[in-house]
Amino acid sequence: MLITNVLVIGGGPAGSIAARFLAAHNIDTILIERDLSYIKP
Ligand SMILES: Cc1cc2nc3c(=O)[nH]c(=O)nc-3n(C[C@H](O)[C@H](O)[C@H](O)COP(=O)(O)OP(=O)(O)OC[C@H]3O[C@@H](n4cnc5c(N)ncnc54)[C@H](O)[C@@H]3O)c2cc1C
Repeated sequence: MLITNVLVIGGGPAGSIAARFLAAHNIDTILIERDLSYIKP
């Protein structure tokens, strides 16, 4: 089981930036992306 404070669904630009910002501020964050062929982020 995964335990986290924040679960970000979607690793597009918005989700990626949000997850990166939270992690940079030492907030436990997991980012989930269903389509790994989307390479831009
Ligand atoms: C054809 C096209 C070309 C574009 N070209 C440009 C460009 O050249 N320059 C530019 O600045 N903008 C471009 N845009 C616009 C840009 O892609 C969007 O503004 C931007 O992607 C929006 O980011 P977002 O994070 O809000 O959403 P999205 O990029 O849509 O990200 C959402 C992510 O969530 C994921 N997701 C959704 N549901 C789930 C789920 N249930 N579980 C897991 N993951 C999930 C999706 O797979 C997706 O990766 C283009 C858009 C299109 C359609």
